[in-house]
Amino acid sequence: MLVAGNWKMFKGPAATAEFLDAFDPPAGVDVLLCPPSVSLAAAVGRGMPIYAQNVHWAAEGAFTGEVSPSMLLEVGVEGSIVGHSERRQYFGETDDSVRARCEGALEAGLGVIACVGETEAEREAGETESVLRRQVAAIPRHERLVLAYEPVWAIGTGKTATPELARQAHELIKELHDTRVLYGGSVKPENAAELLSQPAIDGALVGGASLVVESFAAICRAALT
Ligand code: PEP
Repeated sequence: MLVAGNWKMFKGPAATAEFLDAFDPPAGVDVLLCPPSVSLAAAVGRGMPIYAQNVHWAAEGAFTGEVSPSMLLEVGVEGSIVGHSERRQYFGETDDSVRARCEGALEAGLGVIACVGETEAEREAGETESVLRRQVAAIPRHERLVLAYEPVWAIGTGKTATPELARQAHELIKELHDTRVLYGGSVKPENAAELLSQPAIDGALVGGASLVVESFAAICRAALT
């Protein structure tokens, strides 16, 4: 089981250090954290792998606001989230740019958590399967890549996919891409054990609940049962 915490645009370096002073990941579960880029250096070397939330495909260049794979490696970062739905929704990320970011990161030696998931409108229109097929097709196969199924309607909304809906989506994704698949979307201490007990769910990508030591620790413990 892998539990990854996505801190989104929360916690600068001081708050990151404070969290890590108090957080002790339980043995027996792989735990990693994805702080904002300015906090990566403060998080590295504190007992767990640190991933970025985004990464560019090029080694360097005129790409204002972006960070390259080699720069992440230089500060001890081990991987990156790619294609999070907030990047797709608000920052124009496409299947093509997701593919390029994944390839650049993997070629440089980083791990990748690549995110896929349908919006509420797509689910209501019966398009979940075609959206997942299209998004997964854009993601390279690689031993250092794991997928995260994050139904967009469940992210930060308090709505969680039922274990049955999550299972169906995970089974489809695993048919298309033979890798670990994390579930993400309002995972909390109260629902983590049930979601993580589904055979096709290999872990969780946790947003809001990863910001608080007690709730993130409880989700990590739920991954052990
Ligand atoms: C996420 O940011 O990947 C996420 C799943 O957020 P939340 O857990 O807050 O829904």
